[in-house]
Amino acid sequence: MQDAVIITGSAAGLGKALSHTLSSIGSNVIGIDKNTSADIIADLSTAHGRQLAVSSALDLCPRPKAVVANAGLSPIHEDPFAILEVNWLGVKDVLDSFLHPLSKNKRGCAVAISSIGAAVGGDKELIDCLLEARISDAKSILDKALKLSVVDAGIVAYSSCKVAVAQYVRANAKLWGEKGVRLNCVAPGRMETAMLEGLLSHEEIAPGIEALPTGITESASASKVADVVAFFLSDQSSFVHGQVLYVDGGSESLIRPNVI
Ligand code: NAD
Repeated sequence: MQDAVIITGSAAGLGKALSHTLSSIGSNVIGIDKNTSADIIADLSTAHGRQLAVSSALDLCPRPKAVVANAGLSPIHEDPFAILEVNWLGVKDVLDSFLHPLSKNKRGCAVAISSIGAAVGGDKELIDCLLEARISDAKSILDKALKLSVVDAGIVAYSSCKVAVAQYVRANAKLWGEKGVRLNCVAPGRMETAMLEGLLSHEEIAPGIEALPTGITESASASKVADVVAFFLSDQSSFVHGQVLYVDGGSESLIRPNVI
């Protein structure tokens, strides 16, 4: 296969919407998911699953055009350690592994999916551990949080991973740029998927989600967010690199108007 776009978490939500958007404009798409409806079935919560995902995708397309590191677990997942594995290592390891193959494609680029949760903020010590590859220290921090409450541990794991993902994109702009591969980040706000549904039906979490300020529209379909990811993957954004774009109806700018 030529010039494929590889999408993790392709079986549902944003990944599925993006697969449709790209397929409808004639792009080749390779979907990776733990769910059986993907081209490649791999569980990104394990190192083995991540390696399998990357090697299987490269077997299908040795010079991919793009990678979208989208798969993510919700903050209310029952195992906060799995959130670290999927939402951080499932992004970082996958992107690191694809840098060289993407550099062999003249139009190579990648998009990482963060979240409005990054603007709300994570735990500084945990974020540093993630970015410095001190995963066992990160797990110790989470272990302490878990002793207090599984919900709080999930929230801190999720938001810290999403900050780390956005910072990874900023920190790697130099390395990836030198290799000729554009790297950007999309941080969705309330996006109408199973993940948001689960959050809004959780009695401890829902009030925080509902309290997020809204600039223009409270929520959007996954295909609206997919349109922005598709822009980052297209030649129309060929001068955009190292950016984090909140696609959130304005929530982030209302939360922190002085951050530019
Ligand atoms: P979703 O739960 O609807 O879909 C996530 C997909 O990822 C599913 O197909 C799932 O099977 C897959 N996945 C989960 N764990 C996996 C694993 N271990 N290995 C392989 N695949 C796995 O979620 P969504 O709402 O489409 O979220 C997509 C991305 O957007 C996530 O990174 C999420 O954190 C982020 N996000 C979502 C929202 C929202 O409101 N929905 C807001 C901000 C950010």
